[in-house]
Amino acid sequence: MRTDHSIEFQSIETIEQFNNQLLREHVQYCYEHSPYYRRLFEKSGLKPEHIKAKDDLHLLPLTLKEHLEEYAEDFLCVPEQDIVDICQTSGTTGKPLIMFQTASDLERVGYNEAISLRAAGVTENDRTMIACALGRCFMAGLAYFEGVRRIGAAAVRTGSGNPAILIQSALLYRPSVIICVPSQALLMAEAIQQSGQDPAQLGVRLLICIGEPIRKVDLEHSTLGEKLRKIWNCDVVGTYAGTEIATSFTECSYGRGGHFHPELIAVEIVDENGKPVPPGQPGEVIATPLQVTGMPLLRYCTGDIGAYYTDPCPCGRNTYRLGPIIGRKQQKMKIRGTMVYPGAIFLVLQDIPEVKNYYLEVYGEYELSERVRVVVGIEDAHCLSADSIAEKIRAYIRVKPEVVVETAANVAARTIQEGKRKETTFFDYRNN
Ligand SMILES: [Zn+2]
Repeated sequence: MRTDHSIEFQSIETIEQFNNQLLREHVQYCYEHSPYYRRLFEKSGLKPEHIKAKDDLHLLPLTLKEHLEEYAEDFLCVPEQDIVDICQTSGTTGKPLIMFQTASDLERVGYNEAISLRAAGVTENDRTMIACALGRCFMAGLAYFEGVRRIGAAAVRTGSGNPAILIQSALLYRPSVIICVPSQALLMAEAIQQSGQDPAQLGVRLLICIGEPIRKVDLEHSTLGEKLRKIWNCDVVGTYAGTEIATSFTECSYGRGGHFHPELIAVEIVDENGKPVPPGQPGEVIATPLQVTGMPLLRYCTGDIGAYYTDPCPCGRNTYRLGPIIGRKQQKMKIRGTMVYPGAIFLVLQDIPEVKNYYLEVYGEYELSERVRVVVGIEDAHCLSADSIAEKIRAYIRVKPEVVVETAANVAARTIQEGKRKETTFFDYRNN
């Protein structure tokens, strides 16, 4: 595996040259070893040499989750004896996908997490609590463990499932770093407070948050990010990753979006017509993870919507960065002709102190406008009007959705569902 993380500090031209070189090698590898991609090249009349740089990737069709489901084995490039790990997605958005990893792929994710965690500020002196699943064939916990081990920090492998174990471990092992879902970090801190202790005094100096954004699109902390920073009295950075793309984008300690790693991934951010969007504009993250040998992918559609940033990061790395994920592609809504993602509305609601909880419903009514109903839970329903909330949303997304104010208890009855780790806040009735 080619590793050269000093490249991140060189000029963007040098970074792109290096990225394009690895991309060419990756395309050649897919052509030679992947039955799926060989067929795709042959059908389209393309040769690997037509893809010289990231800008040529648009010549190739996109790879969708459905393709992985349907042609799974055709993506496999190695014989059975080279597979060392069978990994699967959580299946939160459909049926789980199976990804086969070789020893070198495992090495690659470990390297990815080691450079990412180090940039976020983790050192060999840290105790790092990994509060995400290591078992059940999940990738995240395994990848973090491999990264923590490489840095030489101590891992506290609590997993994510049991809140009591998380709290007990935080009190007993005194981790200095916690990797977890941000809403879970908040629940954990509140439970510690209720037990009469102060989470801010436990010695946690860094939270690395996965699965939910902790920033707004201006890259400042969202209300959730800010709450975490205060309650734990520590730095809070975010990371974004996907099992299929086997790569994470982690913020450095300056927290200005997750850095792209040129040796690990080629990234395109595109609009709904597949055209690249300019920096700062939201689009779908299309990823070509480099140097994967087991099930390599070309132009994989993650379905996640975010923007990228090209302005210099204070850490000195010149790589581009990925901002918060504001939604999933299939969650895109149209309000009077304007595209809106639920995440954008949620960020506004999180900023209103009186709002305790919320959910959103979308109904398909007309082609250009869908009916979006934002249901907001407030303790005292008289203290804030639905219209003033709708105005706040309009100030941010430019259109005014329907807002209904309810009691927080009524909203919770809808959003908290048995057996689900995260609250359900988005209800889509468009295809019914
Ligand atoms: Zn940075």
